Amino acid sequence: ADAAMYRAKRDGRNRFHFFSGEIRAGLLARQQLMSDLRAALDGQQFRLHYQPKVDLDQGRVTGVEALLRWPQPDGTFRPPLDFIPLAEETGLIVPIGAWALREACRQTREWTAAGLGPLSVAVNVSPAQFSAPDFTAQVQQALRDTGLPPQQLELELTEGLLLHDIPLAQGVLTTLRELGVQTSIDDFGTGFASLSYLKRLPVSGLKIDQSFVQDLGAADTAIVQAILTISGALNLSVIAEGVETAAQAQHLLKLRCSRMQGYLFARPLPPADLPAWHRAWRAPAWAAESSPAR
Ligand code: C2E
Ligand code: MG
Ligand code: MG
Ligand code: MG
Repeated sequence: ADAAMYRAKRDGRNRFHFFSGEIRAGLLARQQLMSDLRAALDGQQFRLHYQPKVDLDQGRVTGVEALLRWPQPDGTFRPPLDFIPLAEETGLIVPIGAWALREACRQTREWTAAGLGPLSVAVNVSPAQFSAPDFTAQVQQALRDTGLPPQQLELELTEGLLLHDIPLAQGVLTTLRELGVQTSIDDFGTGFASLSYLKRLPVSGLKIDQSFVQDLGAADTAIVQAILTISGALNLSVIAEGVETAAQAQHLLKLRCSRMQGYLFARPLPPADLPAWHRAWRAPAWAAESSPAR
């Protein structure tokens, strides 16, 4: 019995050591990432890249989406989904997001002053940012400081963020609407929410998630049609994201979804590259033929 107890203790202790080693490594990695993020913020290392949004019926660029980029010493970018979750968890996303909001407004104001556009700019907002008590004040301040007209700013929000606290979301969305700022639900259709909340939340648009755009088989087509019908009835704007091929774009046009974003048109671009891309862009010739007669 003593031997058995000893063995259990020893194994238990070994297992404990094994786990604690793993946990320690994980904690160290998190701590390292945290302090790297903080240093990047303090050192103003973050950048925004801008991915165009187009309307193929109107044949024009309607706006851009600002996407966070973290340059690494080797010249690569660390992808946002690699560090945003931890930044969100630790609250560091709040100052990072505040910087992104202001920088996107500043850049877009600068482009507008230079005669580009007028472009709207969409900024992704994280849950921690959205639920901060001073969020709408922050938005107002960014607009005031940069001189960007509120109509040119759009905020991209996720379903989860909106549904987490519906009364709070209603209040914030109402204030944003009064300010004249656009709001859209990002990755629409991928949450598990019932659609009834759309009635209660005053957003201005929906972004159809790229997962529905990829193959556009029978099921995806039906889902996209349903989203288009709902948004028509509720007077919401719709854009499809993640459009990579002409076949996808043509299919969307046949369904009467003419606003799109994706690698087919442009990848997220560093700001210096946007003006030339914008001036050169023309809607592809097949766009006119793919649209159903209007
Ligand atoms: P999102 O807002 O849904 O952005 C779309 C993502 O899909 C971007 O990835 C974009 O580069 C990528 N994408 C665009 N077109 C295509 C396409 O045709 N095909 C494919 N496969 N992908 C495409 P990215 O830049 O890596 O950003 C990932 C996510 O990180 C974003 O998803 C957003 O949720 C989050 N994010 C990015 N920037 C910010 C930010 O400033 N603040 C916050 N809170 N979140 C951000
Ligand atoms: Mg987005
Ligand atoms: Mg999205
Ligand atoms: Mg996404």
